[in-house]
Amino acid sequence: MPIFTYKCKDCGEVFDFLMLNKSEKPKCTKCGSKKLEKQFAAFGVKMGASSSTNSSSCPTGTCPL
Ligand SMILES: [Zn+2]
Repeated sequence: MPIFTYKCKDCGEVFDFLMLNKSEKPKCTKCGSKKLEKQFAAFGVKMGASSSTNSSSCPTGTCPL
């Protein structure tokens, strides 16, 4: 079952939310706010790092096959 990590935009609390069903809405475990920012990985990991390795073989993306 999927576990998502959220960060509260109101108080900055970071918590894991176990999504038991899709209709369930996460809320901050500290202040109850629903203004949440979904975290995809641990802190410091930049999104798009994997795509840079992909583009290195073809910088323009227009290389012929
Ligand atoms: Zn909060």
